[in-house]
Amino acid sequence: MDVVNLCRELVRIPSYVQRDGDRLLRSERAVGEFLSFVLRERGLSPRSQDVEDGRRNIIVGAEDPRVLFVSHLDTVAPSSSWSGDPFSGEVRDERVHGVGAVDMKGPIAALVTALSKEDPGTWAALFDVGEEYDFRGIKRFLSEHTFAPEMVVVTEPTDLTIKHAHRGLIELSFRVRGRTAHASEPSRGQNAITGLVGAIGDIGLERFAHPDLGPSTGNLAYLNGGLDTGAGLGREGNQVPDLADAVLDVRPAVPSLDAAKLEELLRGAIEARGLTLEDVTIRHDRGPLLTGRDEAGPVAEAVSSQLGSAEFRPMSGYGEGQMITEAWGCPVVYLGPGPSAMTHVPDEYVSIESMRAAVKVYRAILAAYR
Ligand SMILES: [Zn+2]
Repeated sequence: MDVVNLCRELVRIPSYVQRDGDRLLRSERAVGEFLSFVLRERGLSPRSQDVEDGRRNIIVGAEDPRVLFVSHLDTVAPSSSWSGDPFSGEVRDERVHGVGAVDMKGPIAALVTALSKEDPGTWAALFDVGEEYDFRGIKRFLSEHTFAPEMVVVTEPTDLTIKHAHRGLIELSFRVRGRTAHASEPSRGQNAITGLVGAIGDIGLERFAHPDLGPSTGNLAYLNGGLDTGAGLGREGNQVPDLADAVLDVRPAVPSLDAAKLEELLRGAIEARGLTLEDVTIRHDRGPLLTGRDEAGPVAEAVSSQLGSAEFRPMSGYGEGQMITEAWGCPVVYLGPGPSAMTHVPDEYVSIESMRAAVKVYRAILAAYR
């Protein structure tokens, strides 16, 4: 099967995650089984790692690789805005169309095409579950494997530029308490809702900036407040609200801004406004990824040997490669075909030309770490 047909077959097998309460309706299992079949057909010996509910990571290659490739089997769910069948795998205008075509079934097709049983045991590849959802696949993999590769290549769509750095991910939920008063004299109270919003601005996240990654940013993702009646939140306009619950997502550009530091700054800002911070829960606490250009030298040489030049750029979103660096201390880059602008959008597609170029680039990387 050539790279185009392999991509089409992968796109035709839905692999988004859907639950109905505790029941798993849909997962990456079928696409993982198909991929194992393809790898065996190519003379390789894939093994699977149970994650949960029958969802499995697929691992192939050496136990002590010099280079590790990481790809995810899951995709986002198709939105209702698709103009055709999201699982058609149709070829039109030199592109393969469908959910996950570029993120990341096209990259998987390119990688699998590049892998060869003739290559000596210096590489390994991980195809994990749950990257778009909860990172369960990579967490399970890291809990049971300790590799010391010289390079990790995550095959996210990057238009074949080398993405060597990205900001981290912190998510906090918390509650702010203020003091109620009559609405006719709001200055006698402490408004928990407006105080919470103001305090986030007071933190000055933009102070935590990195030359390559720019400033740290925050997103107030959830806010619910009102008068604490003891049995819920009052909605009367004539009282100053004394309670607010929030979820704050922060993307730190520097390692010094971690969840503990953020909580300390948030507490200071909230208390400075005469309010109290309560019930802080940390959901994510991940620092930035900062792989040096020198560390990624062999990858850059492999890319420029095939494409004429190699470009380094930071990535805007968070990626699971950071967890690998955190666990093993090894350099990580993201590198895959494009267009990356078609990630997570309706009518997603991957460029066939870009996939074919990726096959050559991955082969050159395998050769560099032989
Ligand atoms: Zn992806």
